[in-house]
Amino acid sequence: MIDLGSATGLTCRECSATYDLGAAYACMECFGPLEVAYDFPALTRADIEAGPTSLWRYKDLLPVRPTAADEPNLAPGWTRLHKADNLAAELGMRTLWVKDDSGNPTHSFKDRVVAVAQSAARALGLTTLACASTGNLAHAVAAAAARGGQDSVVVIPHDLEAGKTITTATYGGILLAVEGNYDDVNRLCSEIIGEDFSQSWGFVNVNIRPYYAEGSKSMGFEIAEQLGWRTPAQVVAPVASGSLLTKIDKAWRELAALGLIEESEYRVFGAQATGCSPVAQAFDAGWDVVKPVKPSTIAKSLAIGNPADGPYALDVVRRTGGSIAAVSDDDVVDGIRLLARTEGIFAETAGGVVVATLRHLLKEGALDPEAETVILNTGEGLKTLDAVMEFATPTATIKPDVDLVRAVVT
Ligand SMILES: *Cc1c(COP(=O)(O)O)cnc(C)c1O
Ligand SMILES: [Zn+2]
Repeated sequence: MIDLGSATGLTCRECSATYDLGAAYACMECFGPLEVAYDFPALTRADIEAGPTSLWRYKDLLPVRPTAADEPNLAPGWTRLHKADNLAAELGMRTLWVKDDSGNPTHSFKDRVVAVAQSAARALGLTTLACASTGNLAHAVAAAAARGGQDSVVVIPHDLEAGKTITTATYGGILLAVEGNYDDVNRLCSEIIGEDFSQSWGFVNVNIRPYYAEGSKSMGFEIAEQLGWRTPAQVVAPVASGSLLTKIDKAWRELAALGLIEESEYRVFGAQATGCSPVAQAFDAGWDVVKPVKPSTIAKSLAIGNPADGPYALDVVRRTGGSIAAVSDDDVVDGIRLLARTEGIFAETAGGVVVATLRHLLKEGALDPEAETVILNTGEGLKTLDAVMEFATPTATIKPDVDLVRAVVT
């Protein structure tokens, strides 16, 4: 028997077929994606509040059975919820928060999903940690495997930012750069899992994706707890595969079902870059399915042209009365600079996508400036310096002479 805490099995999201816990991700009846099923214990706010200041405080709501090996797993989570009064004033909003996941151990929200996947991989007897990545996942997997004394295999598109490839390579493990885009990488990894040499590999976002995806719920749990056990009226999330967006909603529905928060209405908004906006396009066109695109954007962490959870992200956004919008690369850069200038938070391109989309949605009238809003910053700007390089130069380069300083500042 596999022991993954409150998790009891896997269920097909499309046809509801059920399966035992295992390294599986697609339904054998209909090929639909599998999702973790639970039998949650009775839980109080105090039980959770007494837990560690990391995502492990929600272990009873995740498919994990943390061992001593997992607990200090670079302890992701419990990142700051920052009240962004300066940015709110700039945008004419009443109450705005930034959930800042750049504070995670490898500086993106991917540490959350990796921690949960790593715990699940151990329980499933998978010894090598692997992934198909747009950059941040590579960094998180390589670090977690290093810390856990495990082998890692990380597969990425060859043209990622230096801030993601150099960091990843430094942790050790195998790093495969593929001449192709993320969708090519993902397809390759689906083929790899059938091979004899990969039978001990847990591809966190492929063959153990159901467990991995649940890790994103912890971001939603934290937002609710940090607001004093309630949900905001509006949230803006970046969309790559669409998983994070759907799990924020799932987290809040689970907390309400468990009586840990009061059920109240909220609207979920999605943010993409125009150069890779298949979910925003489907939203605009009123489609239930997402038509794949070929990505071309500086927001490489979000550059998934064929997003696995796209249709489910559309469901969440439509059910809650939100929307999904896309912004240009120039707007992404402006978004990064605006957040840095107003709040002292240096976001990577994904954060720029979210801030620019927030501004766009306000302009459109889609988002209510009077309603309390949380935006997600999912990554750190030091990893994507190229995006702002052109604008971020010294005010002046001078000889060490006080008169020259006076000339610049007066
Ligand atoms: C992976 C990633 C996302 C989005 O993830 P999905 O769950 O695939 O939509 C958002 N921001 C950053 C920085 C990421 O690395
Ligand atoms: Zn099915």
